[in-house]
Amino acid sequence: MTGLKSRADRPTGEVLGVRVSLLDMDATVKAVDELVAAAEPALVATADASGLVIAGEDERLRRAYGTAALVTADSNGVVWALRRAGHRVSRVSGVDLMDRLCRLSAEKGQRIFLLGAAPGVADQAAERLRLRHPGVNIVGTRHGYFPSDDDPLVAAEIAQAKPDLLFVAMGIPRQEVFITSTLAIHGAKVSMGVGGSFDVFSGRARRAPRLVQALKLEWLWRLILNPKKASKVMLLPRFVWLVLRQGR
Ligand code: UDP
Repeated sequence: MTGLKSRADRPTGEVLGVRVSLLDMDATVKAVDELVAAAEPALVATADASGLVIAGEDERLRRAYGTAALVTADSNGVVWALRRAGHRVSRVSGVDLMDRLCRLSAEKGQRIFLLGAAPGVADQAAERLRLRHPGVNIVGTRHGYFPSDDDPLVAAEIAQAKPDLLFVAMGIPRQEVFITSTLAIHGAKVSMGVGGSFDVFSGRARRAPRLVQALKLEWLWRLILNPKKASKVMLLPRFVWLVLRQGR
């Protein structure tokens, strides 16, 4: 096999103690495809500024990022921190990466499981993904509202479907903790935390318009649509402060 084989071969930059991938979208899709082929269960994390701040306080998330095969720069804040350190990098968001991986999986015949979001949302996302990427093989779905005591049971349910790719949309850090603590049970070749992506694919949540994205104001858009996200958005100034302090 040619190309990127192990984590050590992939270019990364450090943000608040986490090694974040510098691969662009095309190279990331290729790297994930190689991870599926390597068939050793791997975690792919998509980290935004709030995730990196939470990792500073949450040992389980820090460990998950530390053992992940790839941690992508999911937000403009993380891209800013990497560029500030002199790296060339572009954003690889969870929703865009999941979309690309679904498209590729349809070509490759890979099996996909969707875990997370409110009851009914993963099913709706699966339906719309099947229309968007004809041939995509979604072999199972399950909502994400269950106590962590049930993690092993849910993982065993996923194992029955034998997925190559497992997308988990339960928010940071719950999704990363689920993936790493049950890796040996669910056995998916690549598992990826994708936050609110099922809400977007199902059509229940709208992505920010392109102009808002270009102005790098997606965080404000999300805050207006969902004021409950304020606690996560409030981590952004803290992230900026921590990065500036680290850089001194
Ligand atoms: N969610 C879930 N189980 C929970 C809590 C949340 O499945 O116990 C889902 C929620 O319905 C939403 C997603 O997780 O679809 C969280 O999205 P968010 O954008 O908040 O994620 P983050 O900002 O952490 O990436």
